[in-house]
Amino acid sequence: MAQFTLEELPVLPLAETFALTAAYNADSFPDKVNLGQGVYRDEACRPWVLPSVRAAEEVLHNQNANHEYLPITGDKQFNDKARELMFSPKLAKNPNIRTVQTVAGTGANNLAALFCAHHIKPKNVFISDPTWDNHYLIWKTAGPEITQKLYPYYNASARSFDFDGMIAALEAGEENDVVVLHPCAHNPTGFDPSQEQWKKIAEVIGRKRLFVVFDSAYQGFASGDPDADAWAIRYFYSTFFGALSDSQTNPPTGMLVCQSFSKNFGLYGERIGALHLISPQSVAAEGAYTHLIRLIRAVISCPSLFGARVVNTILSDADLTAQWGEDVKTMALRIQGVRASLRAELEKINIKGDWSHIEQQIGMFSYTGLSKAQVERLKDVHHIYMLGNGRMSLSGLNESNVGYVARAIKDVVDH
Ligand code: PMP
Repeated sequence: MAQFTLEELPVLPLAETFALTAAYNADSFPDKVNLGQGVYRDEACRPWVLPSVRAAEEVLHNQNANHEYLPITGDKQFNDKARELMFSPKLAKNPNIRTVQTVAGTGANNLAALFCAHHIKPKNVFISDPTWDNHYLIWKTAGPEITQKLYPYYNASARSFDFDGMIAALEAGEENDVVVLHPCAHNPTGFDPSQEQWKKIAEVIGRKRLFVVFDSAYQGFASGDPDADAWAIRYFYSTFFGALSDSQTNPPTGMLVCQSFSKNFGLYGERIGALHLISPQSVAAEGAYTHLIRLIRAVISCPSLFGARVVNTILSDADLTAQWGEDVKTMALRIQGVRASLRAELEKINIKGDWSHIEQQIGMFSYTGLSKAQVERLKDVHHIYMLGNGRMSLSGLNESNVGYVARAIKDVVDH
């Protein structure tokens, strides 16, 4: 085996969103605008602690809890509540769904990839093109021997979801290959399949006997309705793994669901998430679950307390859960409002082209269609920061800067 010495390791660039935030922070221009990192901001572009989270902090403060280790799988009550939120209280009771607490969505994705690499050993992993850039890195790090195949997701000329391209790519999958899916608010494009399209995607995945990994980072944040945002996951579960589905001749070989609480609870820095392992009804769930537990022991030993306590406090209390329901609606509605304002401002100044996609997309981002060079000019000339692929985080916009951003976009489009 080739050996390397430390001095042979080249300097790597910082991950793009983090580099962008650092550049934005260092910019002294008073009207700079940060449309880079995927974090929610209120109308004044400030971080927003959800009222439900503030109330839960209050409850926790008065509980005087200790700081003992959690079990390897995490806080049981949190896991139960997380599973109910994702699958519905009724489906969550089924014993073929096993849940562990994770280090946010990233930790859930990493654990899912590690589990597949060690115990499923797929030849290929299908990842959408484009996707959240960490998917590539996570799968490369956890399973270097697994070939990454990119399935088309975005039709650049039509600025729409490339359903036919995705289906054609999945048709080439081999049994036990993994497919990574975004259940709602696809990052970065903001285009989701319709329910009819999801049904066809499920049919292909079942027939080809693939292994499914759902990455849910925006439940409730996308539409304001957590049940609606979990529709695709519940559809896959009920179709292939629910109690009545044993007669299914073509189920996927298994399913993992990554669940992040970063965006929908605004708990970014607390790093709280969950991973759900689903086995077909005909397969005993226990063996696979114990293998997952062993991986957690190796990577983090056991997860952390605070985020689990906050989420559990909210989801165990009817009033706080209702407040949280209002909080996600507040965030989703503000983002939808910002979409409408940006499109209206662009059209008011007669920008070239069709910008209706800004309103058609859903979730935290708009995949604007701006080129790398146009994005560079936005930064260099107008002090507006967004990803090189044209992804704009909409929460950095508000009523006072949306006109400035629209005029800057017109400038780079005309340039
Ligand atoms: N998956 C997707 C698709 C995401 O957009 C994100 C957040 N950018 C994550 C996972 C991970 O989020 P976190 O680790 O902060 O929970």
